[in-house]
Amino acid sequence: MTDTSRHIPPTVYPSGLTLEELAALFPEEPLYRAKQIFKWISKGIESFDSMTNIPQPLRERLSERFDGHPISSNIEKQLVDEDGSLKLQIRLRDGAAVECVLLEDIEGRKTACLSSQVGCPMGCAFCKTGTLGFLRNLGADEILEQFHLLRRLRGFISNVVFMGMGEPLLNLENVRRAIALLSNHEGIGMSTRKITISTSGIVPGILDLAAHGPIVRLAVSLTSANPELRTHLMPVNKTWPLETLKSALLEYQRVTRDRITLEVVLIDTMNTSEHDAIALAEWIAPLKVQVNLIAWNPIEGMAFKTPSTAQVKQFAEILDHNGIVTIPRMNRGRGVMGACGQLGDTLKAQE
Ligand code: SF4
Repeated sequence: MTDTSRHIPPTVYPSGLTLEELAALFPEEPLYRAKQIFKWISKGIESFDSMTNIPQPLRERLSERFDGHPISSNIEKQLVDEDGSLKLQIRLRDGAAVECVLLEDIEGRKTACLSSQVGCPMGCAFCKTGTLGFLRNLGADEILEQFHLLRRLRGFISNVVFMGMGEPLLNLENVRRAIALLSNHEGIGMSTRKITISTSGIVPGILDLAAHGPIVRLAVSLTSANPELRTHLMPVNKTWPLETLKSALLEYQRVTRDRITLEVVLIDTMNTSEHDAIALAEWIAPLKVQVNLIAWNPIEGMAFKTPSTAQVKQFAEILDHNGIVTIPRMNRGRGVMGACGQLGDTLKAQE
């Protein structure tokens, strides 16, 4: 009988395996071998043959086990913005696709903006990804593979934000595993202080993170402190309204003692008035936050308007006067549709 097992793709690729799980694959090998393999995998190598300190027979077994490739995802498209931002369209092993972005600030710090789901079920009205629908969660291996592919092209990455496609707190177990792998000192060794989870406001996920960790930086897309307007722009507000969200953020802050980032997408004539800014400042009052103001990034087919620089400035000044740290965010990646809310323009709606 022919052994066909090697032709069945594994369900988890090595980027998603912990050191202990790698060791368990080869129980007869000493632990230091698993550590060596884990280090190689954490470098995002293209071929098992790169593992120069691993004996050839073991490299061959790895290759057979993982269908010949350490990484199962492929870069389908690369787009580079004038500001240097890099957007990748990545084809996953089942044929689905996601996008991820590498943003570089003026000090040269590189941040990988990773996707956690194929599409997104949240339906935020101002976001391209929200129009695609939802197909499935990404595995931790697929999340790490985005990181590896970006790093191959751009070198050392200092920060990770789960701000790409999808709602990370609806895929918390895989995101948690991805963070554990990113921060493992035997491998990539990124501090959890350099990792941000950005949520639309999934209250059980925030409380779960507060109770069970990991303690990472939390960003919440708030956009409006007006309940009706927030529900209109972000349907999540129907399930977890503003007051419930605030209680969860206070709990997160009690546990972490850390400042939370609130993201406010400013849309001309919708949420840019003085009244909107004051309502936001009042809502924020008990929280210790930094507000990132993001002028809505244009998306074809959406009828919203981007506010002027003066509108953003005036909004920022009102928050400032109320003692709230406010940062008007640069729209890095906009030229390749890689800025906030724009991911998914190269992809089709999920079926
Ligand atoms: S803003 Fe985030 S949570 Fe909302 S639809 Fe877009 S990807 Fe999903």
